[in-house]
Amino acid sequence: MKIKLSKTLCDGFGTCAAHAPGLFALDEWGYASLMGDGSVSPDQEANAERAIINCPVHAISKEQGGRQPPTEAGEPGAPQ
Ligand code: SF4
Repeated sequence: MKIKLSKTLCDGFGTCAAHAPGLFALDEWGYASLMGDGSVSPDQEANAERAIINCPVHAISKEQGGRQPPTEAGEPGAPQ
């Protein structure tokens, strides 16, 4: 899973860093930035989902077009 953050939308509420302190850093005014390239390790995915859901201005989203989970047939991204 990979996430992205819109610094244009971010309004400095800081809830993302409260939910996922390993993924977001806040500047001195409370505006967020991603720590790293937005890649989320499996053990951080629940925190990332909470950050996405709880951002009041929807500044955080999942990046589309990443690697898809394998299907039963073992083909990544094949229609189900
Ligand atoms: S929760 Fe949203 S608005 Fe608040 S700091 Fe994080 S990205 Fe910005």
